[in-house]
Amino acid sequence: MSRSYISKQLRERIAAQARYRCGYCLTQEKVIGMPMEIDHIIPEAQAGETVEDNLWLACSLCNAYKGEQTYAFDPISNEIVPLFNPRTQHWHDHFGWNQMGDEMIGRTATGRATVVALRLNRELLVEARRGWVAAGWHPPQD
Ligand SMILES: [Zn+2]
Repeated sequence: MSRSYISKQLRERIAAQARYRCGYCLTQEKVIGMPMEIDHIIPEAQAGETVEDNLWLACSLCNAYKGEQTYAFDPISNEIVPLFNPRTQHWHDHFGWNQMGDEMIGRTATGRATVVALRLNRELLVEARRGWVAAGWHPPQD
């Protein structure tokens, strides 16, 4: 959640870097018809700064579920691991899609922990993805 001022120019630069989609669930702004939020990768509550290196685009629910977390529990390794960092890590290294393309799968401890912590397979989102798959808008090919 952002409390600090973020200039329009900085917001636009981050949105372009994120290709106008949530860094976690990859939902696209143009699909949901709403601008996304600016996520502090290290939360402001943990002294994360409002600077480009610490900011990325996130949908409102991923941002809300992430909250002040930077680590989460991986149910397979039973370890507490860092959450996925959409600025420094590659999405496809840590996540994939199921065959239908409607559910995210964690490929690594970080990926699995992030899927659970941010509820990346929320019921409504999975339902929405089914429609996006049928329309050919999802999953993103890059
Ligand atoms: Zn999201």
